[in-house]
Amino acid sequence: MGITKVPKENSMTKNTSTNDNVQVTVNALLGDFVQATNVAHELYGHGLLYKRDPEGKTYGHIYVASPKDDNKTLQKEIKESVKETVLNMKQ
Ligand SMILES: [Zn+2]
Repeated sequence: MGITKVPKENSMTKNTSTNDNVQVTVNALLGDFVQATNVAHELYGHGLLYKRDPEGKTYGHIYVASPKDDNKTLQKEIKESVKETVLNMKQ
């Protein structure tokens, strides 16, 4: 997996970036394919939604009553970006 950190003033979590930028980190010990899909998840899911609307709080997972994420907007972006990454990796 990876992590996306956003500037402190808009953060939904305690994981804040060290500056005014969005920062994405993925585990370098994972294989190239997994790293690529993790980057897609973090950057084109969380990071993209953050940049579109930092105040909207749509960029984070929302776990209310179950381990299932209730943030449909984020899930849609992640699903599409990972799908495109998988296609690109197969070329
Ligand atoms: Zn995520």
